Amino acid sequence: RRDLAGTFLARPAMTRTGTAVRVQVNIADPSDVDGIDIATCDGVGLMRTEFLFGRTLPDEETQYRAYRKVLEWAGEKPVTIRTVDAGGDKPVPGFTVEEGNPFLGLRGIRLSLARPQVFRVQIRALLRAAVHGSLKVMFPMIAIVEEYRQAAAMFAEEQATLAARGIAHEMPPLGIMVEVPSVAIVPEAFTEAAFFSIGSNDLTQYVMAAARDNAAVAHLNSVRHPAVLRLVAAVAAFGQRQGIPVSLCGDAGGDPASIPSLLEAGLRDLSVAPAQLAMAKAAIADVSV
Ligand code: PEP
Ligand code: MG
Repeated sequence: RRDLAGTFLARPAMTRTGTAVRVQVNIADPSDVDGIDIATCDGVGLMRTEFLFGRTLPDEETQYRAYRKVLEWAGEKPVTIRTVDAGGDKPVPGFTVEEGNPFLGLRGIRLSLARPQVFRVQIRALLRAAVHGSLKVMFPMIAIVEEYRQAAAMFAEEQATLAARGIAHEMPPLGIMVEVPSVAIVPEAFTEAAFFSIGSNDLTQYVMAAARDNAAVAHLNSVRHPAVLRLVAAVAAFGQRQGIPVSLCGDAGGDPASIPSLLEAGLRDLSVAPAQLAMAKAAIADVSV
């Protein structure tokens, strides 16, 4: 099986019936790309940036260098960088707050909007890095469209700041994670976003009311539950109708047991952990859609 997967790694992903599927990789630390041959994937579908937010908040230059490294590695292929998704299962000392219900609290875009002085540093680093490749930026934990509008307005303001200072920059397409049920149920409220990326880890935990980090309820936490799959299919169909690209970057995208269901739900764009890349391509080749 492993040898077989190796032969799939070198080729573009395709189902048994000849449907092309885009397979990108999920990364965190920029050094993650060192072991990946860019020819084996379609770019970066999710770069998590929480790793940068360790004991001290990262300055603009540190972030700019990290994003630039990944963009230059990817060349012409797209790199989707997610603004910091701190809170929930990813606490950051000195940035996140102590809460009784962290998964339902001040996390993701909510926290970034509540800490604009920190968020604006990341925004400027992303705008500057954008000139080095094909950057897309997405916001985590969007629940209402006003959050997208506020974040997009901050991108426009920081773009003006950089322009006034004569600093090279570019405005990337801005998209959203679909991981809060309010978005998956009413996607038509979010057509301002340039693209959707389904975060099946969080979408599943919120639909099933089963914490992603609690082994006692792991049996409930499946993307293959019909309630979750129906939402995934609805979002995929909505994107198709509206011409909004829809991908999926949760762990289910790299799970051979879930891949058939995700393709049947209409998805043609998955982003997986680098270690899952070969297996995911092999699993895709087994599916008839
Ligand atoms: C998700 O929720 O599916 C996702 C990709 O983001 P994270 O696992 O970082 O919350
Ligand atoms: Mg998430």
